[in-house]
Amino acid sequence: MQYGRCTDRDLRELEAIVGAENLSSGESAINLCSRDESYYTPEAPPEVVVMPDSAAEVSAILKLANAQRIPVTARGAGTSIEGNPVPLYGGIVVDMQRFDEIIEIRPADFVAIVEAGVSYKDLNKSLGQYGLFFPPDPGAAAWLGGMIANNASGVRTIRYGATRDYVLRLTVVLANGEIIETGSLAAKSSSGYDLTRLFVGSEGTLGIFTQATLRLAGLPAHFSAAVATFSSVEAAAQAVFEIMRWGFSPAALEVLPADLVAMLNRDSDLGLREEPTLFMEFHGASEVALQEELGPVERLCQDAGAISFQSGLGIDERNKLWEARYQAFESIKRTHPGSDPFVADVAVPISSYPEMIEYAEEVIGDYGVIGYPFGHAGDGNVHVVFMGDAQDEKGWENVQKANQAIVTRALQLEGTCTAEHGVGIGKRRFMEEEHGRSLAVMRQIKALLDPQGILNPGKIFP
Ligand SMILES: Cc1cc2nc3c(=O)[nH]c(=O)nc-3n(C[C@H](O)[C@H](O)[C@H](O)COP(=O)(O)OP(=O)(O)OC[C@H]3O[C@@H](n4cnc5c(N)ncnc54)[C@H](O)[C@@H]3O)c2cc1C
Repeated sequence: MQYGRCTDRDLRELEAIVGAENLSSGESAINLCSRDESYYTPEAPPEVVVMPDSAAEVSAILKLANAQRIPVTARGAGTSIEGNPVPLYGGIVVDMQRFDEIIEIRPADFVAIVEAGVSYKDLNKSLGQYGLFFPPDPGAAAWLGGMIANNASGVRTIRYGATRDYVLRLTVVLANGEIIETGSLAAKSSSGYDLTRLFVGSEGTLGIFTQATLRLAGLPAHFSAAVATFSSVEAAAQAVFEIMRWGFSPAALEVLPADLVAMLNRDSDLGLREEPTLFMEFHGASEVALQEELGPVERLCQDAGAISFQSGLGIDERNKLWEARYQAFESIKRTHPGSDPFVADVAVPISSYPEMIEYAEEVIGDYGVIGYPFGHAGDGNVHVVFMGDAQDEKGWENVQKANQAIVTRALQLEGTCTAEHGVGIGKRRFMEEEHGRSLAVMRQIKALLDPQGILNPGKIFP
């Protein structure tokens, strides 16, 4: 596809739209906006970074880009790990950092109206005083626009759902500059096609969101965290299946291999037994309700071969545990200085979770690669963080083959090639296999909304 480049005249027009102080074609801005947390790099770096602060400005930028067929990549915090915001064909990066206002919190309706550049952590800080929170929680310092675009989820998705379940209304600027509003504040609706859900997970390929109305949840009155250890990751995975099969609803259920627990001990001084481990959290309306859940869960863990089970952790211990879990990626990187990370992210039906975990371990051995399988177990989500040298052709090829094998098995098990990180660049090649003929329908939707193909080109579609 032939794209236009920004001429001096285009740059002057962009400057007139956003103001000289909100446009940069300097090396540091370009470098920053050329990367996310993955190892993918652009074939042609972006030519200019602009920082608009209204839907009208985004609209004017897109009108200009559409007329000249210049690629436009929206950028949030840049924490993606599949190359999602890495601009592949040069053009304009629309950095959403000035969309940083929490416009309104309506506690009585359980909603917040936010701009796309607000970080979900800041939103949650503001919501605490109302006894509310926005549950999707990817751990990294993501912004809400990026979370909506990737349909992010996190440790508490097992109970509360993913970002998709919390977006009620969106303001979207389309490729031709038209500004539309989708959805309503109603808790349910049968009013036509659900455009809001179409835009969630579209990775900046269908439009740029400037504002969102988000559903909120009440902070739990009571919670309890628990840690169980097992002799193998497979036994821990079996316990996950049993807990879910018997209808318990943990707020978080994470599986970690022994070597990763050792890293978390080293970095966060947790003092945990260095064995395959389940981190769990339960939310309830009362202490009694919590105990009624925790007792049987402990028995299920024991039946699955638990070596230890510790519950009733206090708030400080619980927070420390989750902070350490959020740092798992950094702990792994610290253990392998100079190596490049590559993250596999698949999900399978919960009954196949033990098999998927076992297979991931086998694959790591078969390809002789360094990899740590863990993940949001209750969602059937398996991550493997591989560590290797992206410059070492043979070694890196093995990492890719191991990832390919894991994705292929997940698809055979009727799962998905990307549970929460999006397609970006890394998962494009699996889209045909996962979606078959419906990928052609996705292409038609893309062509309808973005006929010139200017929005984040080269993503999602193989
Ligand atoms: C250590 C670590 C742990 C992580 N853990 C998780 C996890 O548990 N769960 C999870 O889901 N993810 C996880 N991630 C991935 C990442 O944090 C999420 O995908 C997050 O949602 C990305 O948000 P962002 O603001 O960084 O968006 P970016 O990376 O900047 O952009 C993401 C995509 O959204 C598009 N985009 C950005 N803003 C807009 C907008 N306003 N309108 C339209 N499109 C837009 C971009 O073009 C891009 O395609 C993790 C990442 C790291 C580094």
